[in-house]
Amino acid sequence: MKITITRTQTPKQKPDQNALGFGRYFTDHMFMMNYTEGIGWHDARIVPFGDISLSPACMVFHYAQEMFEGLKAYKTEDGRILLFRPEKNIERMNSTNKRLCVPQVNPDDILQAIIETVKIDSDWIPTLPGTSLYIRPFIIATDPALGVHPSKTYLFMIILSPVGAYYAAGLNPVDICVEDEYVRAVRGGMGFAKVGANYAASLIGQQKAEEKGYAQVLWLDGIEHKYVDEVGSMNVFFVIDGEVITPSLDEGNILPGVTRASAIELLRAYGYKVTERKISIQEVYDAAESGKLQEVFGTGTAAVVSPVGKLDWDGRIIVINEGKIGKISQFLYDQITGIQFGRIKDEFGWTREVK
Ligand SMILES: *Cc1c(COP(=O)(O)O)cnc(C)c1O
Repeated sequence: MKITITRTQTPKQKPDQNALGFGRYFTDHMFMMNYTEGIGWHDARIVPFGDISLSPACMVFHYAQEMFEGLKAYKTEDGRILLFRPEKNIERMNSTNKRLCVPQVNPDDILQAIIETVKIDSDWIPTLPGTSLYIRPFIIATDPALGVHPSKTYLFMIILSPVGAYYAAGLNPVDICVEDEYVRAVRGGMGFAKVGANYAASLIGQQKAEEKGYAQVLWLDGIEHKYVDEVGSMNVFFVIDGEVITPSLDEGNILPGVTRASAIELLRAYGYKVTERKISIQEVYDAAESGKLQEVFGTGTAAVVSPVGKLDWDGRIIVINEGKIGKISQFLYDQITGIQFGRIKDEFGWTREVK
């Protein structure tokens, strides 16, 4: 794919690496590409980062035909730049696109777009321990028309944001509230797709949890409010009596996380028993009661592993592993970040060097 490059004439000052946070700063450039029915994807270009102009009638503003992805570029101690399993994100992008009636993208072209955009802003990749460059590809429907049908034109973009270490002071367990009123996904819905609309649906639950002093929500299934789906915007794992259990993907209500897949593969390679199946919140509470619940943690690109210290289900509170990080959470965190930052030999062939 030919990518036209227009470099910025006014590079920005880079933010303080100690105060990056998440998604607050953006690099000097961004990638753009258009889709037109009958032509396909066209006009791939890297341009200075900046505002875009759209008709207020654009379909994305009214009917939420929008998808996104999230991955990171990491700088190793010897100055190499690594991506972590980007082909998995691109594969998921096309699965999301299919659900949302957005045209498919060419995986090679998207990988090239990610690599070229990261390369042009490679001096924006922070180097302090745990920091990285967050990569946000997304697609919006741009037909300026209010009829409800799939758009005939789209805009694909990639923006980049230097982000801070998720855990400034080591892995910190978070307190989670089980949400039994609102749901984020249902069978046949869009739970497996990475779409902004799922996040719009989740905000109220998140707000409720925060009002009660909790960091995140544990989502239950949308039909019976019985089985565990995900935790916040992460996949969820339970360790019960030595067995690692995570909700299975077959009902289409769970986002197939790249970190989730990597955690499962890693644990199995190291001889752990990992089971993908339905798990009810009652089973989790029963396990806690009988002293068999050893760990609960979330997985996702942003935090890698996020241990859960406490669960509150309708006022019934359980404390997990005395509110401390469990062995398996720590193992996964060390292994995955070790591979991502090139500290551990990548025996799985998961990283891809940008050069
Ligand atoms: C992105 C996301 C995840 C985590 O996926 P990763 O590929 O591991 O980053 C989990 N759940 C939801 C709802 C998500 O949007």
